[in-house]
Amino acid sequence: MKARSIVLPGLALGFAALLIAPGSDSLASYTLFGSTLSTGQRDVRLYDNLNDAQSNNNNAPETEFPGYFGAELAIWKGITEWGSTTHGQGTGDPTQGVIGNGQANFDASWQGNALGVGGANDNIISGTTGCQSGVIAFAEGPYADGWRIRMCDDQWVFADGPGAISGGAFDIQGIIAHEYGHALGLGHSCNNAATMAPSGAPGQTSLRSLNFDDIAGIKAAYGAKASTKPVICQTSVSGTTMTITGDNFGATGNSVWFTNVNTTATGIDPRVIVSGLTSASGKVITLTIPASAGPGDVLVKIQGGTTGAFLSNAFPTDLVGTFSNSAVCPIVVDDISPDTVPALMPGTSQDVTITGSGFLNATDLYINTSTLIDPANWTIVNDTTITVDLPQFGFLATTNLLVASASDSDFGNITVEANTTPAMQLGTGDDFNVIHDGEDMRVVLAGTPGTLHKIYYSASALPSCHPKSKWAMGDQFSNFFYATEATIPAKGWTEFLAPVVFSGPDVDIYSQSIDITTAPAPMFGISNLQIFTLSE
Ligand SMILES: [Zn+2]
Repeated sequence: MKARSIVLPGLALGFAALLIAPGSDSLASYTLFGSTLSTGQRDVRLYDNLNDAQSNNNNAPETEFPGYFGAELAIWKGITEWGSTTHGQGTGDPTQGVIGNGQANFDASWQGNALGVGGANDNIISGTTGCQSGVIAFAEGPYADGWRIRMCDDQWVFADGPGAISGGAFDIQGIIAHEYGHALGLGHSCNNAATMAPSGAPGQTSLRSLNFDDIAGIKAAYGAKASTKPVICQTSVSGTTMTITGDNFGATGNSVWFTNVNTTATGIDPRVIVSGLTSASGKVITLTIPASAGPGDVLVKIQGGTTGAFLSNAFPTDLVGTFSNSAVCPIVVDDISPDTVPALMPGTSQDVTITGSGFLNATDLYINTSTLIDPANWTIVNDTTITVDLPQFGFLATTNLLVASASDSDFGNITVEANTTPAMQLGTGDDFNVIHDGEDMRVVLAGTPGTLHKIYYSASALPSCHPKSKWAMGDQFSNFFYATEATIPAKGWTEFLAPVVFSGPDVDIYSQSIDITTAPAPMFGISNLQIFTLSE
């Protein structure tokens, strides 16, 4: 068994002299043990036998680290700094920057409390007595098949922060960040600003944040974070169902790891694992939360390999609410409703709703993959909803609506059919469009391709009724004026300018169209009513 120690400055000189001996890399200051932790050894637990009051007096909840306080919270943050990417939104350390800076194929799995100190391979942190003089804490290996970290609790006072550490105490979060660096395979660094520097001082919190040299070290040991590595950007819960959103999930064979809610026995694998999960899009996994899962982190392990490139980042959940780092979330389109639409839906109301996630990052909306829809025609309601006032398409077919962000896109299918009932839009299609005297009216007319439609105007909103046609205007055909006619082309709609046969000022004009081609059964098809105001 080897023991690696973090020692006081007086003893640090000996380590430093050893580590800069000829043969070391003159450009990088980190050192490697040569062994790494498999994905089956990423669990971390605390046996909380720490005696100092300062070790467990932080009772302030930390949003991105739900369910834990005191030494547990400090340790969870300390190990999480080595994670491949930002933990949740990265908040939780009032003295440093974001948490989660390793940038490598490595992520730890916080597993709460253990019932004892455990064996040398049980991946448990605890306090101990009888350490060598000057030693603050140490990690025991060999590391490849597990580790144990001991904190020299009788010689020193350990404090859980979360802010500045006072009174000559040592910072649990920073000390554990250092010792866990040993457990995952790093030796001491010659860079005195590194988390893996051989010495630490009372009150020092800088060890909490990885230095560039630490990042270079973990990348050398585990490889820089792969572009294909699964990533979680959101966890949300409804009842007992969790939805995990991210990217690079497998179509089948995904496993989700939860933090164990129980204080678990030594010598066991504490992870709560749900296996055999599918993700059709590769971006969403939905599962039932198992009974032994607690607040903590979730990770997704995909099949196809055993390295950390096949294990996601650790992402927080309290098993109740939503945790999100929407800035990195992919675009996911789950549904388009309705998914069959007529060629023309008159008006500017938002007729189609797209549901999914990541929409706060959406920048563009396309029809048929590449035809941009005017931004005025669609609205981001929230991260999961976009509404669209569909423009007219150039064809009748099944196509798609594609939502794009700067870095991602996804689409859903939508089918455009001919209007079975004649439809007409004047101007924007809204009531009380204003048309000035002498202007022509923009008309969009839709119906069955090949049919002939005639447009009529009226200044009266009183109806006109006939055995074969019923109109919402015209005062029993006493105020009824023919405007023009048009044939519907193959794309299901046509657009043109029609003359207006009235004069202003401030006259409300009503208009409908009739399909005179289709045999009445029982009546001719007549369009929706459109209204506009004629002014001087
Ligand atoms: Zn050390």
